[in-house]
Amino acid sequence: MTHAFNSGCPCCSQRNGLSRRQFLCTTAAGVAVAPALAASVIGEAVAAPRVAQSGRSILLKGGCVLSLDRAVGDFEQADVLIEGKKISAVRPNISAPNTQVIDASKSIVMPGFVDTHRHMWQGFLRNVLPDGSLQDYIQLVQRKFGANFVPDDNYAANLLSALGCIDAGVTTVLDWSHIHNSPEHTDASIKGLRDSGVRAVFAYGTPQTVSGRWQDAPRNKYPADIARLRKQYFNSEEQLLTLFLASPGGAPDQVMPIWKAARDVGARITIHVGVGEFGRSAFLEKMHAIEPLKSDTTYIHCCTLNDTEWKLIKDSGGTVSIAGYVETLMGHGNPPTQKAIDLGIRPSLSVDVETSVPNDFFTQMRTVFSLQKNEVWARRLSGDKNPPKFLTAREVLEFATVEGARANGLERKIGTLTPGKEADIILLRTDRLNVMPFNNAVGAVVTSMGPQNVDTVLIAGKVVKRNGQLVGVDMNRVARLGREAQERSYKAANVPNKRI
Ligand SMILES: [Zn+2]
Repeated sequence: MTHAFNSGCPCCSQRNGLSRRQFLCTTAAGVAVAPALAASVIGEAVAAPRVAQSGRSILLKGGCVLSLDRAVGDFEQADVLIEGKKISAVRPNISAPNTQVIDASKSIVMPGFVDTHRHMWQGFLRNVLPDGSLQDYIQLVQRKFGANFVPDDNYAANLLSALGCIDAGVTTVLDWSHIHNSPEHTDASIKGLRDSGVRAVFAYGTPQTVSGRWQDAPRNKYPADIARLRKQYFNSEEQLLTLFLASPGGAPDQVMPIWKAARDVGARITIHVGVGEFGRSAFLEKMHAIEPLKSDTTYIHCCTLNDTEWKLIKDSGGTVSIAGYVETLMGHGNPPTQKAIDLGIRPSLSVDVETSVPNDFFTQMRTVFSLQKNEVWARRLSGDKNPPKFLTAREVLEFATVEGARANGLERKIGTLTPGKEADIILLRTDRLNVMPFNNAVGAVVTSMGPQNVDTVLIAGKVVKRNGQLVGVDMNRVARLGREAQERSYKAANVPNKRI
């Protein structure tokens, strides 16, 4: 049987009057609604197919659809119609002649994952630090490798990391790019993102140097070069690449002018805060004293922030990115999922460094899920009579999609399967041995799936992975670029390049 289902909807419990959205959620959750009625109620969500302006339309047929939009709902079996770049309908039994049909009957159809913080310039430095601490990372990755990068390294790394994103179902990634040893490095990083076909936020950051002081880079143009980037590469909102500024920490009176450079060109800001012992300096209180924090900033990690700083983030409307896996590995502090939830902040998730962290989002979801639950169990076991609620699998899935879109400033474009949004969609195979026999779609994604389930990926309506293979990518070239950059970079950094 095909029907909409949607349970535990907070938007219903938070409202008093019977709003349209509430009615939808209530009916979808508690009553056996005939598909036709559900369709007519949802209205614009199921508008009749129009002729695609671009002439390209795709019908994802018969999948188990997790729209992650509570007004659209989820469906045990439904179709998703894509016209040009956008989703035009999500409902069962769409008839759309002259359309390319993709059989989704053995798949979960859901929004692509959204990463809010990844240092993609480390794309060919994967796995160099499986046992390293944060200090090891700074010494080896930033001061040895990063300080010696040439522009071709930036290109190869970003291309590799971005293709890895697509392969793993991460359709949007924020490239937290602090490898701008010269403007040519910057141009190469952006080209790598562009050539990959991923949707990316390019967060323009500092150079790397041997001394660790980014101001020492002889050809440094940070942050002023952001004005050129805005004009040269980011003058349109109608493209896959958008612009942020990646801010260093440091003395607040020196950091605030950098934030001004971002705001002068309308770029949002992303910054690491609350990292280990360094994070206990009340940095955000000091920044706020110079100029009030604004909603245009994403705060990464936040593990050791004080309560006042957390309240400043909440009150300013800022967003949060938790990189749970690396935080546990490298000594940043306890991933602050519960702290964020206590304040009513819904965090986004991020991979951070591929030097030590796998590039997929299944790992990220399971990390914050298990750690939050462990925290609640520990409080119960220690006699806490009023412990927090357990995080649910659906909430974690929202962190990995909807909240990522919000933190990346793209919530109007992506993050849910909502008609009118751009079609960034993944098809996850349900006929694989790690999930068969298939049931409980949200549970399957969060509990059991991995990159091997990512069968098909669309970005802005374009199929970029199909039947488990990237589309239109010369893998021999990619492998060669990666290998050449790796060899060059190890040599320049004077680090032995060994496989064993
Ligand atoms: Zn980071």
